[in-house]
Amino acid sequence: MKKTPFVTKSQVEEMVQTFPTPFHLYDEHGIRENAKAVKEAFAWNKGFREYFAVKATPNPYILKILNEYDCGCDCSSYTELMLSEACGITGDHIMFSSNDTPAEEFAYADKLGAIINLDDFTHIDFLEETIGHIPETISCRYNPGGVFELSNGIMDNPGDSKYGMTYEQIVEAYKILKSKGAKKFGIHAFLASNTVTNEYYPKLAKQLFELVVDLRDKTGCDIAFVNLSGGVGVPYSPDQTPNDIYAIGEGVHKAFDEVLVPAGMGDVAIFSEMGRFMLAPYGCLVTKAIHEKHIYKEYIGVDACAANLMRPAIYGSYHHITVLGKEDVECDQTYDVVGSLCENCDKFAIDRKLPKIDMGDYLVIHDTGAHGFSMGYNYNGRLRSAELLLKEDKSVQLIRRAETPADYFATFDCFDDIKIVK
Ligand SMILES: *Cc1c(COP(=O)(O)O)cnc(C)c1O
Repeated sequence: MKKTPFVTKSQVEEMVQTFPTPFHLYDEHGIRENAKAVKEAFAWNKGFREYFAVKATPNPYILKILNEYDCGCDCSSYTELMLSEACGITGDHIMFSSNDTPAEEFAYADKLGAIINLDDFTHIDFLEETIGHIPETISCRYNPGGVFELSNGIMDNPGDSKYGMTYEQIVEAYKILKSKGAKKFGIHAFLASNTVTNEYYPKLAKQLFELVVDLRDKTGCDIAFVNLSGGVGVPYSPDQTPNDIYAIGEGVHKAFDEVLVPAGMGDVAIFSEMGRFMLAPYGCLVTKAIHEKHIYKEYIGVDACAANLMRPAIYGSYHHITVLGKEDVECDQTYDVVGSLCENCDKFAIDRKLPKIDMGDYLVIHDTGAHGFSMGYNYNGRLRSAELLLKEDKSVQLIRRAETPADYFATFDCFDDIKIVK
């Protein structure tokens, strides 16, 4: 499918008058339409709730928009919990799906009334020792081991992943938790990442539904929810077909009717913890071409770098690039589009066919709305960019300012006497 930016050259030219590149830009309209669609696709399930994976786009403006569609927050750290609380999102609107969890984080999650999702069997005792009791509502994360396959091949390798408990451990965990006072139980599993197929959630759901029927029979526990977690993907590349969230919702519905309803468990709530699907396509990184270099290959140097978007550097991920104003110009050049880090992996694109780029051209790097800004870092003294929101009325709001050198120096205590230039 042809990938078209949600912003035009003239809009960007206007934005840069106030906010210099690079910046991450989010599309409020797209975020809202998609959140609405997710809600509709699962409306058949009375208790459905999406807990947005905060790590994907930890920005209060974004969290609050999603919360208007009843989305909660999936948190896994102290500061993510703080951010959720600061946005007024607490109680059963927080799913605390962490792993290798420090004691103070369990304590804080419990204080907020969050639903705690235990990653490991040993965390039962650890949690009880930390907070002095076992919460009435509790969830366990499941890892079936082996490989997770869909009809288009192996999707991921749960047997190799650090998360979750084995089947035997979950059965035992439920029994122990029940004996310690837990009343409502949930199950959670995340078995494949960035799945661009409508099959993933339905297949996972069927597996988890069968598991909870078995768990109910073996332990007598009251199963309140099945958390399908994240992993619903987006088409980063133009040759991929986007997921259809309505087809995904219907697929889960079918499995629900086949497995849970006949077992007398038609009141189980479905939860999701999507990050990428909720935000990735509705964000982009806007950057300017500032250098061209002709050696053994053709290079375009831009003013963003891997510190602003790490995915291509660490995973070799494809992010589509559009040169604004040249949407219809033939892609007859082959470039590596690079940032300034002293690391050769700092390339947004390698051997990419693009139209001829002139210095000063604005490039849109697509699909950075999730796991984009949030994976940023300060290597080479590079500073995090601003985040801007393109509102529904087409005005632009600064939703996080760019870092300044003063931010970079803020954690040193030995420079009281020098003035850091803002
Ligand atoms: C990362 C993560 C998610 C979100 O994953 P996406 O691929 O962005 O959908 C959800 N739940 C947990 C526990 C995660 O670690």
